[in-house]
Amino acid sequence: MECPVCHNMMADKLIKHFQEWEGRNVIFENVPAEVCSVCGETLLTGEVVDKINETLWSMPKSLRKETVDIYKLSCIT
Ligand SMILES: [Zn+2]
Repeated sequence: MECPVCHNMMADKLIKHFQEWEGRNVIFENVPAEVCSVCGETLLTGEVVDKINETLWSMPKSLRKETVDIYKLSCIT
């Protein structure tokens, strides 16, 4: 497939896809996409977008969100 931006050839790749969903940042891994090696343009097929939306809609809403800072104890040897 040809890149719609710079008209170079695009390659099939598995990418990380970032998406905002109900105020959350969601990351999908191993998303099949067409990626342009020249300008970095990525294209998802309609089928893949449907699958992403289907996954998002079927995710149960969490009760609340907590952010936790994680520390590593490096003083004990
Ligand atoms: Zn391009």
